[in-house]
Amino acid sequence: MKLLIVEDEFKVVDYLRRGLTEQGWVVDVALDGEEGLHLASEFDYDIIVLDVMLPKRDGLSVLKALRMRKSTPVIMLTARDHVNDRVRGLREGADDYLTKPFSFLELVERLHALARRTRVQESTLICVGDLYVDLIGRRATRGGMRLDLTAKEFQLLSVLARRQGDILSKAMITELVWDVNFDSHTNVVETAIKRLRAKLDGPFSTKLLHTMRGMGYVLEVREEAEAT
Ligand code: CA
Repeated sequence: MKLLIVEDEFKVVDYLRRGLTEQGWVVDVALDGEEGLHLASEFDYDIIVLDVMLPKRDGLSVLKALRMRKSTPVIMLTARDHVNDRVRGLREGADDYLTKPFSFLELVERLHALARRTRVQESTLICVGDLYVDLIGRRATRGGMRLDLTAKEFQLLSVLARRQGDILSKAMITELVWDVNFDSHTNVVETAIKRLRAKLDGPFSTKLLHTMRGMGYVLEVREEAEAT
């Protein structure tokens, strides 16, 4: 299991790193928010332990930026009297939080619990930016709002979400969603994509569903769109 600790108190970091390494975790450390976001974006961690009070960029801002691109489980470290941080953290997509000061055993317990929970969720809940596709519950939310999709639209979204970042041709989509061979004379895929896009991207400034001319369609968070 690979872990990223983002915390600027060196004593705490050193203590956690040694203890967790002994327990078999692979531990990376970032001592400020910018470095933390950089590592969290570049590499795939099983869990991120993220302090709220950080130099350069605070933990909540790191979490918010991270959630635009990844769903890595996050445990926030918050100060005892900062209830608002906890609430905001959970709203921004933190999976759990620990109040400082905490015991090492408490942290280990939370890490194991979170690892178990996410392993179960992994295959059934897909996250693309602020879009969540629940394959078991057969529903999708974006920015916390439920998308009102037909059965076919949901299936189309699931196919795209399962292969987020990959370009899917019209032929592939036809096969996966309609279970028939692609007939280039019909525009069934275009029509369905258009309807899905209106519901998925219409109300939002960040677009997730992109058309690749002559190649097909891709569902992903685009870097350039984040600036807006
Ligand atoms: Ca701190």
